[in-house]
Amino acid sequence: MDNIVIFGAPGSGKGTYSAALVEHFGYAHISTGDVLRGEIKADTELGRIAKGYMDQGQLIPDELIIDMLANVYDSKKGSKGVIFDGFPRTIAQAEALKEMLTKRGEKMSVTLNLVVSEEELMRRLLLRAEIEGRADDNEETIKKRFEVYHNQTSPLIEWFRNEGVLAEFTYGGSKEEMISNIIKKVESL
Ligand code: ADP
Repeated sequence: MDNIVIFGAPGSGKGTYSAALVEHFGYAHISTGDVLRGEIKADTELGRIAKGYMDQGQLIPDELIIDMLANVYDSKKGSKGVIFDGFPRTIAQAEALKEMLTKRGEKMSVTLNLVVSEEELMRRLLLRAEIEGRADDNEETIKKRFEVYHNQTSPLIEWFRNEGVLAEFTYGGSKEEMISNIIKKVESL
């Protein structure tokens, strides 16, 4: 089974490129952000806890997200592969993912790191705010999410590099070009 991590700052296009990979390869998609928004909508206990963090642009505590992820992963058993979108976001989550996969006789295939300038990220998120109206897409929360990304999430790039799974894709202005480069990489796995 292919276990692909799609990684990048808020607004880097993780959802968009995940959708392209799902369409091309028929993978299952696990977006922790989408799962959490589903929990909020269903007004579950996890959803109520998660909302407080998400509205502030903060990360949900590792233990909660790790348990949730393992359950969702097991529900995708038997698929050709899985795309992890929005997970891991901390070193502890990355270690937990590695352990979870090893326990199941699996391993990380690749991490696709989406590199996009901060200016472009902000432009996209403010645009998305107008179109989708996501509660955490306002300027103040976006700034907080960038800060959290820089402090807690971006150190993972080094972690992935040490694991020998890092592949970087720098956005040069075209979504189609990114999709084709990413597909080529995944085909070569
Ligand atoms: P974005 O990448 O634009 O920030 P997401 O939908 O991936 O959007 O995440 C939205 C919010 O959901 C995050 O700001 C965070 O509060 C929460 N979240 C998502 N994934 C995780 C995770 N792996 N660990 C902790 N919190 C998470």
